[in-house]
Amino acid sequence: MLNMIVCIKQVPETSNVKIDKHTGLLQRKEAVNIINPDDLHALEFALDLKDRYQGFVIVLTMGPDSAEDVLYEAYAMGADKCVLLSDERFKGADTYATSFTLSKAIKKLGRFDLILTGVTAIDGNTSHVGYQIAEFLNIPLITQINAMKILDNHAIIKRLYGHEYQKIKVDLPVLLASDKETNKVRFPKFADINFCFDKEIVVFNLEDLGGSEKEYGLRGSPSIVIKTESFTHKRKYEKIKGSLDEKVDKFIGILKKQNILKY
Ligand code: FAD
Repeated sequence: MLNMIVCIKQVPETSNVKIDKHTGLLQRKEAVNIINPDDLHALEFALDLKDRYQGFVIVLTMGPDSAEDVLYEAYAMGADKCVLLSDERFKGADTYATSFTLSKAIKKLGRFDLILTGVTAIDGNTSHVGYQIAEFLNIPLITQINAMKILDNHAIIKRLYGHEYQKIKVDLPVLLASDKETNKVRFPKFADINFCFDKEIVVFNLEDLGGSEKEYGLRGSPSIVIKTESFTHKRKYEKIKGSLDEKVDKFIGILKKQNILKY
């Protein structure tokens, strides 16, 4: 039995997000929340392995109570168990404390063969969390994955590396990070959508994970945000007048001035 844990993050749908003009912060309450796009590919990767080998897929998220919505969606897609890490004392976690908390939960969930994450979350956008979980668990991490074969206690992974594919042999357990190039994500079946809300969401708090309060949330976060600022991209435009030759000469002159053309 292949034991897989997929970390998914609930994120605001950024194509339709509003920023508070005065504070420069995201208006999270008004945003529609979705599963982070890369994480859908990680979940699809796990569900495909479950279809091909005997497997059990646990989906894990740390977030507010509203993050239950993305876990129900994961159930609708085919997850076997969903776990929400929710505790007031987890609030204010930077990427280090987030990765620490997720890895504590992974250890509590028992034996695992594969951990799957997205490469990047579209809101925080650091790509720190997958790497840091791998460090906390002391396991290798592979990004840009495309396909995988499981053979006894190791796996062969195909990954896109620049313009080439690499085949890598790796011992399990391993952390795999997915992105939009990894696969095509399935749509949940209509019957599974109705049924998913009957499933149980397991909630872990700080006591369930163990350790000291100082290790979690803001207190366990070494990074400090000094200031946040929003900015707008300003574009300049200039209309070039004259004959075609004059326009071309002026245009080349502008490109040279901007250091875009050197000669
Ligand atoms: P990335 O590293 O880009 O994500 C990579 C992958 O890791 C994802 O694709 C996903 O698979 C996995 N992953 C990431 N986050 C989670 C998660 N929560 N659950 C499961 N899987 C995950 N954010 C808040 O929401 N509330 C706060 O109060 C808060 N306080 C912060 C305070 C500080 C000082 C700082 C620096 C950040 C704070 N953040 C807070 C942001 C928060 O730390 C990040 O959103 C979080 O660590 C994930 O980072 P990221 O979005 O860059 O993920």
